[in-house]
Amino acid sequence: MPDDCLFCRLVAGEIPATIVRETDDTVAFRDIAPKAPVHVLVVPRTHHANVADLAAADPGLTGRLVAEAAEVARAEGVGDGWRLTFNTGAPVGQTVFHVHAHVLGGGAIEGL
Ligand code: AMP
Ligand code: ZN
Repeated sequence: MPDDCLFCRLVAGEIPATIVRETDDTVAFRDIAPKAPVHVLVVPRTHHANVADLAAADPGLTGRLVAEAAEVARAEGVGDGWRLTFNTGAPVGQTVFHVHAHVLGGGAIEGL
């Protein structure tokens, strides 16, 4: 794990987060600057820079991450309509280079 990775440190419990669900290989937590009434990030416990790297390295984990995003949407009460966003690369605004699925819903979604 890169020791300067924010989300590796969050997964390790070294920085605080509001965790909403955990599985053996994923952690879901509230975005610190929400862009919608429901804005939860789902990350794998293992470090991959973006969804393309994750899909190439571990297709099974990619599927479990997306399935977990759907569970989060249901648990947050937006299972009937939600958005899944993976910003991939700095040109589209990726700022944390540990793959994270944005689960968004419940009303207006700003930006992203
Ligand atoms: P992205 O721009 O796709 O890389 O998204 C990074 C997201 O991480 C942004 O929506 C930030 O608000 C969010 N974020 C940054 N630091 C934290 C943190 N410590 N806890 C929760 N969310 C964070
Ligand atoms: Zn990481």
